[in-house]
Amino acid sequence: MNLEERVLQLRTRLGEICDVSATVSMLHWDQQTYMPPKAGEGRGKQIATLSALRHRLFTSSEMTHLLESFRDDLENLPDDSRPLVEVTLYDFDRDAKLPEDFVQELAQSESNAFEAWVQAHERSEYSIFQPHLEKLVDLQKRKTDYLGFEGESYNALLEGYERGMTTERVSAVFQEIGHAQSELVQAISETEPPSYHWLAQVWKQQNQWDFGMKVLSDIGYNFSSGRQDLSAHPFTTTFGPQDVRVTTRVHEDDLFSALMSTLHEGGHALYEQGFEEADERTFLAEAASLGIHESQSRMWENMIGRSLPFWEHYLLYFRQSFPGQLDSVDAIDVYKAINRVERSLIRVEADECTYNLHVILRFELEREMLSGNLKPRDLPEAWNAKIEKYLGIPVPDDANGCLQDVHWSSASFGYFPTYALGNLYAAQLFEKILEEIPDFWSHIESGDFKPLLSWLRDRVHRHGRRLTTPEIIQQATGSELESQPYINYLKNKYEPLYGISENPSIATLSPSEGVGISTRGSN
Ligand code: ZN
Repeated sequence: MNLEERVLQLRTRLGEICDVSATVSMLHWDQQTYMPPKAGEGRGKQIATLSALRHRLFTSSEMTHLLESFRDDLENLPDDSRPLVEVTLYDFDRDAKLPEDFVQELAQSESNAFEAWVQAHERSEYSIFQPHLEKLVDLQKRKTDYLGFEGESYNALLEGYERGMTTERVSAVFQEIGHAQSELVQAISETEPPSYHWLAQVWKQQNQWDFGMKVLSDIGYNFSSGRQDLSAHPFTTTFGPQDVRVTTRVHEDDLFSALMSTLHEGGHALYEQGFEEADERTFLAEAASLGIHESQSRMWENMIGRSLPFWEHYLLYFRQSFPGQLDSVDAIDVYKAINRVERSLIRVEADECTYNLHVILRFELEREMLSGNLKPRDLPEAWNAKIEKYLGIPVPDDANGCLQDVHWSSASFGYFPTYALGNLYAAQLFEKILEEIPDFWSHIESGDFKPLLSWLRDRVHRHGRRLTTPEIIQQATGSELESQPYINYLKNKYEPLYGISENPSIATLSPSEGVGISTRGSN
């Protein structure tokens, strides 16, 4: 076969693999939305069978032979197929480094650890989980040896979620934001806590749902290529660029949780709906990394959904959506309420100012466990000390401490940093957006989200995996990963909100002046 025929052959084989992956995703989606309770066991088997089939297709001798045949030809490949071959080879090489018996042992240990974690979390008894964590840490060390790494062994795991990023860079940047955010949170804690008595009402499920659906449609989510449903934990899943689905949950005692999760998942979904159609059924129609994926969700949720111009636009419709419940509430009241800062124990409930601190301490702890400096048996003590250091609050029990996240039970070491990286990338991109889109906030204030979406489509979405995240950030902003844009973003937003330092208090500004202070200051 000549080169062109082999590329065509590769596309055909990748198409089959992607079809199986999409089917697995579909089964997961159904499991978390509509599947009847007794179908669980059968569903587990279906997913396991298809996952094994996918692995078999990807590592078949035909595929191996085909991929190997490209190695000496990379230079000769035409520009439109080189990224496809490179990305496929990259995945193939990472997969191939792990021996099959190791993969099996890891999968079995993860499954045991997950069951133990559920029990340990329920009873808040760390000792139930500890032996499993010890086993998983050992397996992660072995994994880094198989994968190989430069510098610190943690790099091998980080690479699996954030291609091209290094532990050293993450560590340097986290030190800067850790320091700045701790100071900001301390300053906020010294101000008078505002009261939000108007939030304590019952907010009808249907009204919340309708409002969220309108916002989702307004920001550009394409309902012809997706849908929103309810699930216990909100998520986004993709069966191809033409079928990207989101879920949310609605609590009648919480006015904002459904809306914010809709905006968050909507941001993830806009990214996936923006992949090139030509890349469909290949590995190019995937996110460049978890961090860049998270930058998209957090930008729509926090930088847009928690901004004053957004609420100036939606206030009237918001009041109409909850008749008689919001008549005395104005845009500034909403703006203040959705930007409440509170030191708390649980990461997933944390606000923008404290969130990264939760991530930094997990990054530090898993790095120490992997290097052997921290023994899993000493984890609770080390955890509690770090919460005290970064947030200044005591941890009452391990369920609210080191047992709160599922990640370590599924051996996802190297995953946590991507949440904070998402915030940092979002701020870097957003700084550029404010520079490049004229009258940005007047667009948002009038409910026109198109300029923002087009910018993101052009600079981030359409690339899929053609570029790595460091390349996307460099091309879009002109610099590598940096901490200062996020620190500026937080200070410019929260100092006026809480009347701290030289930034004038938001209460003394008219809404449109407030917009100017809280955003353009970051340029
Ligand atoms: Zn997310």
